[in-house]
Amino acid sequence: MVKVKVGISACLLGQPVRYNGSHKLDVYLREVLGPYVAWVPVCPETECGLPTPREPMELWEGAGQQRLVTNSTGIDLTLQMTSWCGRRLKKLEDEGVGGFILKQDSPSCGLQQVRLHCENHRVNRKGRGLFAQSLLVHFPKLPVVEAEKLRNRWERECFLDRIFTAERWRTMGQADGGTLVDFYNRHRLMVLSHSAEGEADLAHWARAGAVEACRAVWEQALSAPSGKNGHCRMMGRMLCDLKPVLSAWESEKLEEAISRYQTGHTGMSAALSLFFYYAEKYENHDLMTQTCRDWLLPVYEGG
Ligand code: SF4
Repeated sequence: MVKVKVGISACLLGQPVRYNGSHKLDVYLREVLGPYVAWVPVCPETECGLPTPREPMELWEGAGQQRLVTNSTGIDLTLQMTSWCGRRLKKLEDEGVGGFILKQDSPSCGLQQVRLHCENHRVNRKGRGLFAQSLLVHFPKLPVVEAEKLRNRWERECFLDRIFTAERWRTMGQADGGTLVDFYNRHRLMVLSHSAEGEADLAHWARAGAVEACRAVWEQALSAPSGKNGHCRMMGRMLCDLKPVLSAWESEKLEEAISRYQTGHTGMSAALSLFFYYAEKYENHDLMTQTCRDWLLPVYEGG
C-alpha cells in the first residue's frame, strides 16, 4: 500500500503541545494507521508563536467572525493565528498532504461543534477552530476528519478509502486509456460500495479515456460512506463474479454470508473474508486485486 502524507494535530501523536503541556495521544493513529502514512504534525497554537504551557483560550463571536480569545486575560489572538495559517497552509500545499486529521473540541483545530461564546452571553456548540476553518477554505477537496470520528467504522473506511485512492491516483503514472481502465478495474467494487451510480459512471468515463471526469466521479462517490447496504451491494456483485465457478453449496454459503451480515449476525470482515477465500481458491485475479480487499486490514478494522 502506498504511503500518504497526512497532516495531523500534533498532540494526537503524543507531542506535549497542549495549553497545559499535556498531549492527547491517539494510539490507533500512531500505532495502527502510522505505518501506512507519512505524518505531517502541525500544532497551530505553538507554531503561531504561543508558548507551552499557555493560557487556555476559546472562541468568541464578534464582528461577524469567530475570534480566538484567551480565557482570563481576554487577549485576542485571531490575527496572530490567521496570519500564521496563511503561511502554513501554503507550506502544506507544497508538502503535498493528502488528508488531515484534527483534534476535536479545540478552538484552533476542532472541525465542528466547538464551544462558541455568543454576544448574548450564551455558549453554543456551533464553533469551528480557526485553523480548521482556514484548512477547509484553502483545501476544499481535501479529506479532513476529526480523530474522534475515526472510531466509527463508516467514517474510518470513508476517510481511508479517500486518502489511499487519491494517492494511488496520484502515483498511477500517465493517465491514458489503459491506466484509466486499469484504475477502474481495481477500484470498481470499492466505488460500487459507496455508490452504484458512481461505479457505472466511472466505467463509462474510464473507457472514454476522460481523465478529469473519472477523477470527479470517484472523488464524489467516495465522499459518502458506504453503509451496510453498500457493502451488501458490493458482496452481491462479487457473488455474481464468482458464481460461474462455485458449486451450489458454495454459492449458498456466500448468499448466507451476505444475509447474516445484513441482519447483524456476522461482521463485515468475516463475511468479506469468505468472498476472498473463494476468489483465491478459484484464482480470480480480478477479485484478488480489488482495492476493497484492504478493508480486511487492521487499519480498516480499527486496530
Ligand atoms: S488541538 Fe491543535 S492547537 Fe491544540 S494542542 Fe493539539 S495540535 Fe495544538
